[in-house]
Amino acid sequence: MVDALRRRGIADEAVLAAMNAVPRHFFLDKAFEEHAYEDKPFPIGQEQTISQPFTVAYQTALLLVKPGDRVLEIGTGSGYQAAILAALGGKVYTVERQEALYFSAKKLLADMGIRAVKCYFRDGTKGLPEFAPYDKIIVTAGAPVVPDALRQQLAIGGILVIPVGEDVQYMYRIERIGESEFKEEMLDAFRFVPFLEGVAKKQ
Ligand code: SAH
Repeated sequence: MVDALRRRGIADEAVLAAMNAVPRHFFLDKAFEEHAYEDKPFPIGQEQTISQPFTVAYQTALLLVKPGDRVLEIGTGSGYQAAILAALGGKVYTVERQEALYFSAKKLLADMGIRAVKCYFRDGTKGLPEFAPYDKIIVTAGAPVVPDALRQQLAIGGILVIPVGEDVQYMYRIERIGESEFKEEMLDAFRFVPFLEGVAKKQ
């Protein structure tokens, strides 16, 4: 998997090492386990998907996570991206709006002994204000707009990586330069599951 990521242009060695270290098959349904190291997304229930490894590597490389960074992830899903952020030394807070996914990811990460990730069942359009500011924020669902709450919860010098758009999303890397000053870059196109408001309770 890591060789394929390298061939697609991922050059950040720390990110590649983290992706080599975290077993992706733990985060997939048994039915897809033998395909876990292919560069494909897979269904994880509740009409959601685990992002394909290239997308995880691409977003993670943009974040430049350093050991000790406080990282907020919106869209826990399977918990895989959160585990990668923890493998890079991040102190990770991850938020999920689907209660069933919140419970399963929380249990899996605990069973794997990954203590640097804390899971929350919330609507991530509001961020997670009680632990702000964050050095890094990553959104793993396609947002129609950049929620202002997320900009406000970034530390000065912090980086927000978010796919923005309706049908197709463009990856944005937003750096907070000052109290009300942000530097924005629009990068490549992707397709994510939608970023939705409110929470969905377990049936
Ligand atoms: N990072 C995940 C990718 C999951 S797909 C992984 O590694 O598996 C994106 C996830 O974002 C879905 O689980 C979806 O339910 C969640 N999501 C969408 N809108 C959200 C919101 N407003 N708050 C929190 N989570 C949200």
